[in-house]
Amino acid sequence: MSRGVTPRQPARTGRQDKVRATPRGLRPAGRSKPTSLATRQNSSRAVANKSVPATRKGYNPIAPERVAEILKRLNELYPEATCALTHASAWELLVATILSAQSTDVNVNRVTPELFRKYPTVEAFAALTPEQLEPDVRSTGFFRNKSKSVVGAAKTIVSDFGGQVPDDIEKLLTLPGVARKTANVVLGSWFKKAEGVVVDTHVHRISRRLELTKQNDPQKIEQDLMKIIPRERWILFSHQIIWHGRKLCIARKPRCAECALENLCHAGDKTWSTVDMHKNAKA
Ligand code: SF4
Repeated sequence: MSRGVTPRQPARTGRQDKVRATPRGLRPAGRSKPTSLATRQNSSRAVANKSVPATRKGYNPIAPERVAEILKRLNELYPEATCALTHASAWELLVATILSAQSTDVNVNRVTPELFRKYPTVEAFAALTPEQLEPDVRSTGFFRNKSKSVVGAAKTIVSDFGGQVPDDIEKLLTLPGVARKTANVVLGSWFKKAEGVVVDTHVHRISRRLELTKQNDPQKIEQDLMKIIPRERWILFSHQIIWHGRKLCIARKPRCAECALENLCHAGDKTWSTVDMHKNAKA
């Protein structure tokens, strides 16, 4: 394969100089690298008229057509993305979301079945002291704070909301340990209410890599995303980005060669690229 055609690995410095500027087409997730030049050329042609130009001049990362293309490709990649936390009620989802901070969904899903068997109602949690709950949630990390939050939330739900998890963001935010991320998870995944965009660690990282925001504060990132993503996509977008963060756009070594968003992405820490890195792109 001749020089100048072969996609090049970024330099160890992180700079991606001399990469090929031709947009690359959609590839299904799960393939490690393009198999042939012909395959890549066909793929490029397939998206040639819908790709965002890779030139720096006039480049607007939040141009509506670029955002729409990202959303479209996410739909193709993760058409039925849902919340990965096992739950059977709004209360169980609230608890699982509190426990998922600084932990993995897999880890939380290992703990919650036994937890909800042992304490089957919100009232059962409300009757505990945080210290009593600690052994049950220890393996999720930060168990003292999480125990306080779960027991505190249970007590408030019983005393202020008749034992029912409220479906109102202002009320949810009065619960101990519940900030906008947790409130948005419960509202979106259980009540199907789009009051905001869930900004967890994956949404935080990938929104910045895709230059949908330059912010670092989750609340400001959420505000940026709410401005450029149609409200009817807020819930699904979060699920899709979270799945993308687990499968491909992982924190330390994103699998860019397999990513269908690759020719739209100018993140500074891409591991493989077919497009010039945007001058100001920072992941
Ligand atoms: S190309 Fe790489 S950095 Fe960009 S979204 Fe895909 S996996 Fe993430």
